Amino acid sequence: MRLDYLTIFPDYFDALQLSLVGKAIASGLIDVGVHDLRQWTRDPHRTVDDTPFGGGAGMVMKPEPWGEAIDALLAEPDPTSVFVVPSPSGFPLQQGLVQELATYRRLVFACGRYEGIDARVMDYAATKLRVLPLSLGDYVLNGGEVAALAITEAVVRLLPGVIGNPQSLSEESFSDGTSGLLEYPMFTKPASWRGLDVPAVLLSGHHGRVEQWRREQSVALTKARRPDLIAQEQY
Ligand code: SAM
Repeated sequence: MRLDYLTIFPDYFDALQLSLVGKAIASGLIDVGVHDLRQWTRDPHRTVDDTPFGGGAGMVMKPEPWGEAIDALLAEPDPTSVFVVPSPSGFPLQQGLVQELATYRRLVFACGRYEGIDARVMDYAATKLRVLPLSLGDYVLNGGEVAALAITEAVVRLLPGVIGNPQSLSEESFSDGTSGLLEYPMFTKPASWRGLDVPAVLLSGHHGRVEQWRREQSVALTKARRPDLIAQEQY
């Protein structure tokens, strides 16, 4: 998979060199390009923003540098690529969408700043590739870089060869193996720590009882924290 980032803060993406994503780059499983949007400006101040039509507070990212960036990265329309636009008004990012993104050959992340990007940029991008506005949640970040990194991490860990044991993916929160429930609590050694004991069932060696306990914990956690994820009557 090829990942491109359009940003006015390229340094944010130094973090791509770390951990599993960094290993995926080093081993050639993914290929990344980080692009400073200002290279596509044409004025001495390398301006990327301007005041909003219609008035209001803040600045909006000008379309011209974005248009040139899109043309530079995509000479031809490409149905195997997605223009991912982090935005509080995007579709909520969920594991199903992450799985879908993991099937594409290339993702191009458009990292907004200020009050966001001139809306015509997304219309123009849509003439070349699928455009997907994505929200990390119902809160406002300062820019799209952190969101692009979060989406990257969620997608890249699903690519074959990135996670050592693929079974761990199917047992995680939101996965098919957990029927879309949140994951149960985890414990490791020592069995007793600062007066806090691991639940006895996990030390029993009884596979069936362990499975049942985990399932009950998953259902209880999901009901308490994310009732929207379950139809109560199923459980
Ligand atoms: N004016 C926008 C609004 O009210 O929806 C907020 C713009 S925000 C200050 C600047 C940039 O941060 C956005 O263009 C987007 O790239 C990113 N951003 C902020 N919150 C986000 C979220 N919840 N999910 C994804 N990206 C977000």
